[in-house]
Amino acid sequence: MLSAAIAVGASAASLLIFKHLGDATRERRLPLQILAAIVMGLAVCGMHYTGMAAAAFPAGSVCLSADELRGFGLTTVVGIATSLLLLGTLFTSTVEARLQVVAQRLARSLTETNAELTRANNELQQRAFTDALTGLPNRVLFEDRLRHALLRMRRANQLKVEERIAVLFIDLDGFKPINDTFGHTAGDHILRSAADRLARLAGPSDTVARIGGDEFLMLLEGVRDQADCALAANQMLRALGEPFSIMGKQLQIACSIGIVLHPDQGEPDKLVSNADAAMYAAKRAGGGNYAMFESSMGVNAATQLELQSDLRQALELGQFELHYQPKIDGHSKQMSGVEALVRWNHPQRGPIAPMDFIGLAERFGLIVRLGEWIIDEACRQIAAWRAEGVTMSVAVNLSVMQLREADFVDRVEQALLRHDVPASLLLCEITESLAMEDFKSTQRTFDGLARAGVFLSIDDFGTGYSSLSHLRQLPARQVKIDRSFVKDLESQEDARAVVDAVIRLAHALGLGVVAEGVETQAQGDILLRMECDELQGFYYARPMSASALMDWLNTRQQPSRGSEAR
Ligand code: C2E
Ligand code: CA
Ligand code: CA
Repeated sequence: MLSAAIAVGASAASLLIFKHLGDATRERRLPLQILAAIVMGLAVCGMHYTGMAAAAFPAGSVCLSADELRGFGLTTVVGIATSLLLLGTLFTSTVEARLQVVAQRLARSLTETNAELTRANNELQQRAFTDALTGLPNRVLFEDRLRHALLRMRRANQLKVEERIAVLFIDLDGFKPINDTFGHTAGDHILRSAADRLARLAGPSDTVARIGGDEFLMLLEGVRDQADCALAANQMLRALGEPFSIMGKQLQIACSIGIVLHPDQGEPDKLVSNADAAMYAAKRAGGGNYAMFESSMGVNAATQLELQSDLRQALELGQFELHYQPKIDGHSKQMSGVEALVRWNHPQRGPIAPMDFIGLAERFGLIVRLGEWIIDEACRQIAAWRAEGVTMSVAVNLSVMQLREADFVDRVEQALLRHDVPASLLLCEITESLAMEDFKSTQRTFDGLARAGVFLSIDDFGTGYSSLSHLRQLPARQVKIDRSFVKDLESQEDARAVVDAVIRLAHALGLGVVAEGVETQAQGDILLRMECDELQGFYYARPMSASALMDWLNTRQQPSRGSEAR
């Protein structure tokens, strides 16, 4: 019994030791091996001696070899058996040791391969999700983060925690000319520094991404309101406004930022394109500033793309046309001139309103050519009317992009010359907000135009933020009071007060006043009592083609021969 117990106990102990030997470190192997040998020795001795002590053999009993095997014979048998046993053990242990080495080598190379795979995988991920030049996330990663942010926000809002996220679209102003002048290395340097500055402004839960060229996106999480966004935008404007040092020179560039706040403005899948539209509005207003998204800025992206490609060919295909809306003189009640308003006759979509394509044309660099066509066409029409004996002054609307063209004034003069039209018959309108946002180029161009003898008019007056001193520096002859004031004239006392004040102020500055958007006789009467000089609006006439205008004139009154713009 004791023998059996020792056998079982020793077997259990050796199994345990064997298990530990398998995963033992090199240093712990030897002590374990010694322990194994001791256990083995004790087990063998224990079993042997207890077994022997328990056995009693009476003479001539079970042990048949009792008398034959003794002395030299027994020694030989035991010797051979022991040698065989030892050799066998030695062989198996050598084989096992070999196997272990091979297994270890295999395991090591497997870990190495795994590590390499992980490295390669990481690199691929890195490339798929980051921008190589700046190391910032790219558009793919940005959109992924945006998706997660939207999910988080929705969950928070379900728990009645009010959360908002904002997407900011940042575009450097005037980056292309710098890249062209100083080379790509300088351009890359600016992009990298700009990326660093933006990344430094981002909080731990925000994402800054570069999505191509000089365009960056920023995702702000946990913003409260527009004021928060404005604060962030101002910080970015300041950071990017700091000079960049390029080849020993200090270069300063600005940026334009478009902001969209969700869920207040814009559907989740349009956040980036809406921020883009707002950025464009900021750029259009002169750059170096930010703009919050407004619903009027977002035209469906697919439609935009389609219109853009159509717009490129529209000029060659002669799809544009000018319509003319009469302006009525306040004293004589005669027509004093017209405003030219461009129309696009799209072959499939029909007529498209200027509001839906002027912005697009500006954005894709088509406005300068379109604007040139408009001025040329207006001059051609003035000449054609003159040939019929009708002297008509025509006002054209200018885009701020045209004002920034260095040779704009030359081109206007060339158009006048080409059609042999006196400069005094052409009037240029520029909206107040655009004139004030980019005051320098407006002033330069207006000065040039005034020298050429072209009259100038400030459009949509009352909607911008002009200071009186600025207005006085522009050689304008006329202001046009915005439709929104005229609309409220009958119903609102304060609209009347504003219009009255604007008319007095303009007269004090020696400017003529036109009221636009006059739709009722009552509005016209109020304006006439306030001594408004000219009236324009659907009440008198809608914009119409050149030939329709002649018919209108012939049925209504005699054309005002010789009426020059004032
Ligand atoms: P705007 O310069 O303020 O032009 C006046 C707009 O008011 C015109 O819209 C005209 O049709 C509309 N209007 C005239 N009378 C009334 C009225 O009594 N009631 C109402 N509700 N509206 C009236 P349109 O032709 O759609 O032009 C919209 C804007 O598009 C223009 O505003 C101008 O900013 C721009 N635009 C039009 N033609 C040109 C152009 O040839 N070049 C450029 N750069 N912009 C243009
Ligand atoms: Ca106008
Ligand atoms: Ca206007």
